[in-house]
Amino acid sequence: MATYDYDVVIIGSGPAGEGAAMNAAKKGCKVAVVEFRDQVGGNCTHVGTIPSKALRHSVKQIMEFNTNPMFRDIGEPRWFSFPKVLKSAEKVIANQVMMRTGFYARNRVDVYFGQARFSDANTVRIQHAQRSDDILKAKNVIIATGSRPYQPDDVDFSHPRIYNSDTILKLEHTPRTLIVYGAGVIGCEYASIFAGLGVKVDLIDNRDRLLSFLDDEISDALGYHLRNGGCTIRHNEEYDSVKGDGHGVVLSLKSGKKIRADAFMWCNGRTGNTDDLGLSAIGLEADGRGQLKVDDHYRTEVPGVYAAGDVVGWPSLASAAIGQGRAASNDMLNSDDFRHVSEVPTGIFTIPEISSIGKSEMELTAAKVPYEVGQAFFKDMARAQIYGEPVGMLKILFNRETLEILGIHCFGDRASEIIHIGQAIMSQKGDANTLKYFVNTTFNYPTMAEAYQVAAMAGLNRISNL
Ligand SMILES: Cc1cc2nc3c(=O)[nH]c(=O)nc-3n(C[C@H](O)[C@H](O)[C@H](O)COP(=O)(O)OP(=O)(O)OC[C@H]3O[C@@H](n4cnc5c(N)ncnc54)[C@H](O)[C@@H]3O)c2cc1C
Repeated sequence: MATYDYDVVIIGSGPAGEGAAMNAAKKGCKVAVVEFRDQVGGNCTHVGTIPSKALRHSVKQIMEFNTNPMFRDIGEPRWFSFPKVLKSAEKVIANQVMMRTGFYARNRVDVYFGQARFSDANTVRIQHAQRSDDILKAKNVIIATGSRPYQPDDVDFSHPRIYNSDTILKLEHTPRTLIVYGAGVIGCEYASIFAGLGVKVDLIDNRDRLLSFLDDEISDALGYHLRNGGCTIRHNEEYDSVKGDGHGVVLSLKSGKKIRADAFMWCNGRTGNTDDLGLSAIGLEADGRGQLKVDDHYRTEVPGVYAAGDVVGWPSLASAAIGQGRAASNDMLNSDDFRHVSEVPTGIFTIPEISSIGKSEMELTAAKVPYEVGQAFFKDMARAQIYGEPVGMLKILFNRETLEILGIHCFGDRASEIIHIGQAIMSQKGDANTLKYFVNTTFNYPTMAEAYQVAAMAGLNRISNL
């Protein structure tokens, strides 16, 4: 058994672990990262963000080829199998792993592959199948072990036609029909992907509206476009049983309905990866969802032990996990660069894409804020017409008295990029955050950024009428 000393040991090499490791290494620490998989990148790279976004991109390309009349000169619409589409995702994963492996090497971060468990708050043991354990000692430990799909005991996930968001990436055929159970972000994204491939999708939602945290208008638009793409959405439903057989899966709902499909994908909830960490050795306990409680500085209740990323719950996004990991290591180093991750834009890669930041109309109405709305519809934007992407809208919510921007909501092609222009203005202090910026600034033409000017002018017109 070999023992090594570090300033910090980080458990997990997803965005949170990598963010923490790179920051600590660049600031002069001796850093070790422990990763259970035999490659770095975390669930984000191997089963989460990266494969799902790569799949979506390929499906969008197929949809474009099959629906754009220009391509009929070179061929009729084509059908693509899921495994074939998956191939492009595999290439992106390999590129990401190679690049991220290089980051660790360049920054002299030691990466250990194996399962990490606490022996005490300053000692982590790494179990290896083939050789004796390694012992890592450090003043600080950052837990960045991420999450996995929640799996209820009464669903048989070993059945070959029952999948979750990890195992769907091993699907070796293309089902004609698919039940997606759970209409959160992951469920809606996969419903879009499969519907885009021509699969008949039943999307089962436990609630009465899709992604109820979104602005109503955007949630309605998502519902419309999913249905338009061949998805049946069933709201307020809960499963009674899920039974796989030789031909497919039968989902029985508590409402009495029965739905049969070739395959079933469970997308209802995630659990923090804490059960095998040996937390009892340091007197730490996870909650019922396997998540760890941290304060505003990502400190757990045990001195010197931090946690960041999905394992601490909200917002469970790769985008935030990177910043949380960095913040944890900055706190550990007492660095002035510390920043708590609070303002996080939503980025939902359904087809169409959705992104938003700030308040929704419902929130502003409930808070009795005197707001007004400015909208730009993509169908009227020159760039969207050139792209052949007329579906979408940008909506700016602003205070009708001060013109302060309060919320931005966007759906349509590249919404998750477009939102960042508004986010930059919203984050300005004082008078710099107003609608006037968009009216008085010259934007490249034709661009999607121009939608901000169109929406701002439309908003100002509304208040000048009174
Ligand atoms: C289908 C899907 C799509 C998503 N799409 C997006 C998106 O578009 N945008 C976005 O921002 N987010 C998205 N997410 C969320 C995003 O993937 C997560 O928020 C992100 O991966 C969390 O990063 P993390 O560093 O906390 O942990 P993870 O990426 O989960 O990585 C944790 C790592 O820790 C390792 N580990 C666990 N326990 C141990 C142990 N005991 N010892 C050693 N290693 C261990 C695991 O093997 C894993 O590699 C998506 C998630 C899913 C599932």
